[in-house]
Amino acid sequence: MTYTGSMLMVVAPSGAGKSSLVNALLKQDKDIGLSVSFTTRSPRPGEVNGREYNFLSEAEFLERKAAGDFLEWAKVHGNYYGTSKSWIESQMKNGRDVILEIDWQGARQVQAIIPEAIWIFILPPSIQTLEDRLRHRAQDDEATIQKRVAAAREELTHVAEANYLVINDDFDTALAELNHVVLASRLRKNSQLARHQKLAQELGASNKQK
Ligand code: 5GP
Repeated sequence: MTYTGSMLMVVAPSGAGKSSLVNALLKQDKDIGLSVSFTTRSPRPGEVNGREYNFLSEAEFLERKAAGDFLEWAKVHGNYYGTSKSWIESQMKNGRDVILEIDWQGARQVQAIIPEAIWIFILPPSIQTLEDRLRHRAQDDEATIQKRVAAAREELTHVAEANYLVINDDFDTALAELNHVVLASRLRKNSQLARHQKLAQELGASNKQK
């Protein structure tokens, strides 16, 4: 299938501010659809089924996985997460831009299937800042914080696989940079030629005349 919309995959260790940045981006740019993943983890306070995630049991997840319902899936911190293949395909068919908030394992799988997918890594300015941010959240006990920091270090070993790095030191700067990546993705040759078909035909004709 030719994909003319942009597929953006946003990957980050927890504490990098990924969700806040993605939410702010979606508020500013109504042309991007957010992929709502499936997960077996329990909803956190304030999370709504169908909005942050589609929450389901492990048995249901494994059934869907076996049926080939997921474009990609991964086990993260002991829970399963997966991206709906049918939702992505429906967006692709309509040339819609989509954003996936997934981990590095998922991003790697998607890039193997859809090479045009763009992998954006959101980074903290330093590991120390990340640790401080996790502590300031005051959501977790020390053991959990240490586990999250270790997981963040592991996630960060995959930075080299990404296409773009956005460093979230100043939030507004990081958001502006994310917007620029979206804009650049929309200006890619194939997307532009699909959007401007008359021009593409003219260019095709004049190329043939040469
Ligand atoms: P959380 O449970 O904190 O929302 O997410 C934990 C991790 O799972 C995050 O790194 C998040 O990006 C990742 N994640 C969320 N949805 C998916 C998904 O559909 N696929 C994959 N591979 N990872 C996901």
